[in-house]
Amino acid sequence: MLKIGCHLSAAKGFLAMGKDAVSIGANTFQFFTRNPRGSKAKEIDPADAAALRELARREGISHILAHAPYTLNACSADPKVREFAFLIMQDDLRRMEYLPGSCYNFHPGSHTGQGEDAGILQIAQLLNGILRAEQTTTVLLETMAGKGTEVGGSFSQLRRILDQVVLTEKMGVCLDTCHVYDAGYDLVNDLDGVLAQFDREIGLSRLRAVHLNDSMNPFCSHKDRHQKIGQGSLGISAIERIINHPALRELPFYLETPNDLPGYAQEILLLKGLYREPGSMPGQAGERLSEK
Ligand code: FE
Ligand code: FE
Ligand code: ZN
Repeated sequence: MLKIGCHLSAAKGFLAMGKDAVSIGANTFQFFTRNPRGSKAKEIDPADAAALRELARREGISHILAHAPYTLNACSADPKVREFAFLIMQDDLRRMEYLPGSCYNFHPGSHTGQGEDAGILQIAQLLNGILRAEQTTTVLLETMAGKGTEVGGSFSQLRRILDQVVLTEKMGVCLDTCHVYDAGYDLVNDLDGVLAQFDREIGLSRLRAVHLNDSMNPFCSHKDRHQKIGQGSLGISAIERIINHPALRELPFYLETPNDLPGYAQEILLLKGLYREPGSMPGQAGERLSEK
C-alpha cells in the first residue's frame, strides 16, 4: 500500500494532526516540531501524544516524520547561530520520544562562506553532540537544492557528513524530489541513474523518507520552490515513476506542495490512483518474484 501523507499544521496539537491526516486520506504525515522560525516550543502534553499514538494505531497511520525549523543553521560561521541549532535540535530529540520510533528531518545548513569542508565538519560535530544511544528517533539529513552556500546539494556531501557521525545507526536521509531535481539530479530523464548514484554515494539502505514535490523551476536551477504535483517541471509521469520505483515504492512519501487540506486530499487521491499495488501488473509481479 502507498504510504502517503503531507505536511500538516501542528498548531492544534498531536491528536488534531492525526484527525486531519485521516480526513484527507493520508496514512502518514509530517509536522514542524515548533514554529518554523525556531522560537520556543510549548511543552508537549503527554495525554495528547498518547491520543495520537492510539489514533494512529487504530487508523493505520505510521512513519510520522518531524521536521526541524528550517531557519536553524548547524554550520553557520557565527558560533551563536550554531549553538542555537544545537540547543533546539537537542530539545527536539528529547520531545520526539513522545512519538517513539519516528524520524526527525533537518536541513544540514549553509556554510556561509566557511567552505564546504568546514560546514560538513560542523554539522557532524553538532550531530555527535546530540545523538544518544538510547534514543528511538532516526535523524534524517534532507537533500537540498544547493542554493547559495547550502550543504547537502550533492549526495557526496551527505555521505561525508554521515562518515563523520559516530552513532551512524541513528542517521538516515530524506530525499526531496524538488530539491534533488533543482540540484541537478535528473529524476525526469534518468531516475534509475540518479538512484544508482544515490546507492553508490550514500547507500539506498540510508533512504528513509521521500518529500514528494514538483518544482516551479527548471532542472538544475538551484532554486527550491515547490510546486503542486504534476504542475511543475517534474510533471506527472516522472512523479508516477518515482512512487512506483522498486527502490522507492515501500518508503513513506510526504507532500510539501503549496496546498490547503482539500488540495492535499486531491493530490493523495491522484497518487493512490497512480500507484500500482504488487501483482496488479504483469511486469511488477515478475519483478517481485525475481527479487526473491
Ligand atoms: Fe525541508
Ligand atoms: Fe523537503
Ligand atoms: Zn524545499
